[in-house]
Amino acid sequence: MKTPAPPPCPFEKLHPSELQRDDAYFMQLAYNQAIDAWRADEVPVGAIVARDSEVIARAHNQVVTTGDPTAHAETIALSQAAAAIGDWRLNDAVLFATKEPCPMCSGAAVMARIGRVVYGVPDPKMGCLGGAANLNTLPHSNHRFPVTGGVLLEECRALLQAYFAAKRTTPIA
Ligand SMILES: [Zn+2]
Repeated sequence: MKTPAPPPCPFEKLHPSELQRDDAYFMQLAYNQAIDAWRADEVPVGAIVARDSEVIARAHNQVVTTGDPTAHAETIALSQAAAAIGDWRLNDAVLFATKEPCPMCSGAAVMARIGRVVYGVPDPKMGCLGGAANLNTLPHSNHRFPVTGGVLLEECRALLQAYFAAKRTTPIA
């Protein structure tokens, strides 16, 4: 069976200034990863891990490509980040994700002792940093981290909505 080509991505990558390395800067890099996901015909979610204002990991969703249900942008980025610094503890690192992390990825962030999480689009269905549930407030967990949602919200949401709309109208080849 021939795999249909991914729907063309109508969005361009962003080019944030490196001079101001704030949340919006890193989220724009995560957004660019999400565009790479779309181009690979994956649900467009991207993630960045930064430490000391430097990117130490960047990844996009690869579930279909790898056939691996755990290959979300965030889990891949957390693994890359741990490998990059040679320590599984990511206390002084920040995870940026274009969508609120799912149960698996929120759990991975807790287990990695992440320093902070920033996300774009809230996910009331599967988000587990306050959307559907909150793994950051497990009553007996001794690791909690600040969470900031809604960064680059409109862009990240438009990308997801357009992808799903395009997939619905793409004829089966
Ligand atoms: Zn996930």
